Amino acid sequence: MNRQAPIQAKTCRDAPILKERGQREVFCGLTGIIWLHRKMQDAFFLVVGSRTCAHLLQSAAGVMIFAEPRFGTAILEEGDLAGMADAHEELDREVARLLERRPDIKQLFLVGSCPSEVIKLDLARAAERLTQVHAPHVRVLNYSGSGIETTFTQGEDACLASMVPVLPATEERELLLVGALPDVVEDQALSLLTQMGIGPIRVLPAPRSSEAPGIGENTVFACLQPFLGDTAAALTRRGARMIAAPFPFGEEGTTLWLKAIADEFGVDDATFERVTEAPRARARTAIANASAALRGKSIFFMPDSQLEIPLARFLTRECGMEAIEIGQPYIHKGLVGPDMDLIPSGPVISEGQDVDKQLDRVRAARPDLTVCGLGLANPLEAEGLTTKWAIELVFTPVHFYEQAGDLAGLFSRPIRRRDLLKLEAVE
Ligand code: SF4
Repeated sequence: MNRQAPIQAKTCRDAPILKERGQREVFCGLTGIIWLHRKMQDAFFLVVGSRTCAHLLQSAAGVMIFAEPRFGTAILEEGDLAGMADAHEELDREVARLLERRPDIKQLFLVGSCPSEVIKLDLARAAERLTQVHAPHVRVLNYSGSGIETTFTQGEDACLASMVPVLPATEERELLLVGALPDVVEDQALSLLTQMGIGPIRVLPAPRSSEAPGIGENTVFACLQPFLGDTAAALTRRGARMIAAPFPFGEEGTTLWLKAIADEFGVDDATFERVTEAPRARARTAIANASAALRGKSIFFMPDSQLEIPLARFLTRECGMEAIEIGQPYIHKGLVGPDMDLIPSGPVISEGQDVDKQLDRVRAARPDLTVCGLGLANPLEAEGLTTKWAIELVFTPVHFYEQAGDLAGLFSRPIRRRDLLKLEAVE
């Protein structure tokens, strides 16, 4: 019998994936509320959880002080957890009190947590019941933000996916941009696409429930974040079609993302060049300036934000870094496949986490930079490794051309700081 030669993977899409299912070190999906509540101005996020959940939200929200906050926690007390009190009755009472006090709320999200899931509190049933009570003024939806899910960015995915079934139907051919980006970055995307003559363009999540986009068979959508797999699936079930492309990080990613949309809408090459030429040049210059410290340096991604594969593509192809391992909490090739196509095989591609084993690999490789969660960063710094907190990447504007230099800067800063500390130590 002929022995077949092993097939050599040419890009990361074909490379074998190291799948790990052990202890994980990530934040829970409640974290997403911190950026979602800023985008959705008539929404309120009511976490049904414990004092720990309330504490996480308060500390993550940090210095943000609002006269009327758009999130809160309905605390499950011991009686609820022991099944001695009717948590549904208490929830109905709290929601009624909240909505009476806050007539500006038009969308209420009941957000599940570890405690509510452990006691199997049926928030889907509660959302249905409360919608009937408070319609048409308020729509009540539910999703899970619990730490039982894989990682913190799943909170946004679960939130957006919960909205899709109740979006209105439309026959219009529209472009839908999916993902909650800071307004300044979203405006840049809308401006570039509009200059190419593409439209109408809608956004999910919309700033207000009255502006919710319609969905139908003529809707095409492009994801702005690589962690929106459930939302993409829900939109597809409603007949919409996804435009697959690398994610808009860096000059190359932004250009390819825009080009995929431009091709879908029949934009000619001359128009595309005219609109993108100047911002592309600015992005290239900014990246060149910000990435000098990154060239030739190695990087190791622990699985955390779900942005790892697109960022590895940016850092290896546009900033001259070498990826040792690219870990992602879960790999959805329908979303990150186009980015994987651009990364030559070589780095270990890992999915999920077994944190002790992965730390062993970090220690053996001693990369110049390790991208990881907050809980791992300090211990690794104490061992002399340089780290970057992955969570900063979702709180900082990093998409599209005008932010490309800042994105490179986020990674070069810790390396430059380490070099300065070394110099000081020598002097
Ligand atoms: S949802 Fe779970 S992981 Fe998140 S703060 Fe609450 S208890 Fe902790």
